[in-house]
Amino acid sequence: AAAAQTLNFQAEVKQLLHLMIHSLYSNREIFLRELVSNASDACDKLRFEALDDGALYEDDPDLRIRIGFDAEARTITVADNGIGMSRDEAIAHLGTIAKSGTREFFGQLTGDQKKDAHLIGQFGVGFYSAFIVADKVTVVSRRAGLPAGEAVRWECSMAGDEAGAYTVEQVEKAGRGTEITLHLREGQEDLLSSWKLKSLIRKYSDHIVQPIVMKKEEWNDEEKKQVLTDEDETVNQANALWTRSRNDISEDEYKAFYKHVAHDFEEPLAWTHSRVEGRHEYTNLLYVPKNAPFDLWDRNARHGIKLYVKRVFIMDDAEKLMPTYLRFVRGVVDSADLPLNVSREILQESKDIDTIRSGCTKKVLALLEGLANGEEAADKEKYAGFWGAFGKVLKEGVGEDFANREKIAGLLRFASTKADTPDEVVSLADYIGRMKEGQDKIYYVTAESFNAARNSPHLEIFRKKGIEVLLLSDRVDEWVVGNLAEFDGKALVSVAKGGLDLGVLEDEAEKKEAEKAADEYKELLDRMKASLGERVKDVKVTLRLTDSPACLVADEHDVGMNLARILKAAGQ
Ligand code: ADP
Ligand code: MG
Repeated sequence: AAAAQTLNFQAEVKQLLHLMIHSLYSNREIFLRELVSNASDACDKLRFEALDDGALYEDDPDLRIRIGFDAEARTITVADNGIGMSRDEAIAHLGTIAKSGTREFFGQLTGDQKKDAHLIGQFGVGFYSAFIVADKVTVVSRRAGLPAGEAVRWECSMAGDEAGAYTVEQVEKAGRGTEITLHLREGQEDLLSSWKLKSLIRKYSDHIVQPIVMKKEEWNDEEKKQVLTDEDETVNQANALWTRSRNDISEDEYKAFYKHVAHDFEEPLAWTHSRVEGRHEYTNLLYVPKNAPFDLWDRNARHGIKLYVKRVFIMDDAEKLMPTYLRFVRGVVDSADLPLNVSREILQESKDIDTIRSGCTKKVLALLEGLANGEEAADKEKYAGFWGAFGKVLKEGVGEDFANREKIAGLLRFASTKADTPDEVVSLADYIGRMKEGQDKIYYVTAESFNAARNSPHLEIFRKKGIEVLLLSDRVDEWVVGNLAEFDGKALVSVAKGGLDLGVLEDEAEKKEAEKAADEYKELLDRMKASLGERVKDVKVTLRLTDSPACLVADEHDVGMNLARILKAAGQ
């Protein structure tokens, strides 16, 4: 076999390792969850590839994950008989970070341990979390289908908290799959116990589909202590959580499963779990996270949910299963009808997928409605949290999802002149409930910032008359009002556009006065028009203003002022 070769980590890996050991120490137990999760993914991948090539099973068809420890050698091992890694794959997957948005991620770190720990958790520490508890990690792996002599041994030792390089060499490995050995750091001895490891597995990995096995322990009278036997025992439940009935699943199990599918440290905000029967039969278990991921705005970021067909894992990040404006949703869809060999390309075209997506969309919107209109204060609070994290994304739905537009509109929250604070707490239904006698429109102003919106001269007449106006200052708000002509039969109207017609809210006497003024100042208006020339369409006397001498108004059918500014900034 070739001699061991020493290779350097990509700079980002070094940075991540260092950060992780310092920020995640108090979460050290997650290393086991991460390694088990990878082992489980590897088994899923094998099962999927073996659909086309049964020979990959070799003579070992029962997929499982094995965990062991050696108290004397101070090691813990996590082994699987999944897909394994070739030499090149080990280098690519364990020596670099291929995730999109890695740069941006490092840019967001603050140096504040708590905040950073949260970000790192979201980024997904994965395999590297082994180094929280180990100062040396050895991976021996053989890709399914490669001969026994073409296995790879990958090893990395840390001096202190620094790791710059790792070694790879070709070795023999009889069974396919991956075995990871952790050489524990000083002070991690408590992990070297059956009891401790089992409790961690039950706590974090109970829902893993494959059996997680350990050697059974037995009391030995001669040695007067527990000793390991040769007998195996399965430690986890080892069934697919989503296939169980809702009543048989505890909150903790739902939460643990979320952490597994979403790669999130935090608990989920809410979830919906159901089996849909009818033309297409499928199960969905969908979660709304508490916090936005660091790459929510990265167009290339992976997002979506896991797709299974009859409990066989098919793919991660099946983006076709959720509309873009619900891209923060995580979870699982398990279809009973799709073919097992379904590919991303097929999904693009599939009518079945369209049906599943629209069903899942309805479930998520109903879940959100439940929180937004919930009787309990805790629900409202959750909804406020949701809105803070994902409101801007949900707003995209107004233009994206015609079929659910009214529902989505009902979930929107805005700032308004009522509270005059930037907090987005007013729903369109609240607004309508507070309308003035005779008012039949929903008024809004858009501007580039909350303060610009709040201080818009167009608001003067509304404030004077005590009419509430929505204060919109997100970029996406222009998109919202551009796509939402009305809500509950009430037109949405910009206060900055067109001849303002307040209808019955207008004061007859004031109107007369304005008409009189228009006559009186005709000469002045003409002169202003002449001197402004091409730059304006018209100059008019207005009732809109109470304090400001003049304001700019867009014509009814023209592009609004704020949108014009956004388009210009975008170079259009
Ligand atoms: P993630 O699981 O999010 O992809 P990880 O850091 O946990 O990130 O793992 C990195 C990659 O290393 C995996 O995507 C996989 O390709 C590879 N890998 C890790 N553990 C195993 C394993 N037990 N078997 C096969 N491949 C593995
Ligand atoms: Mg992983």
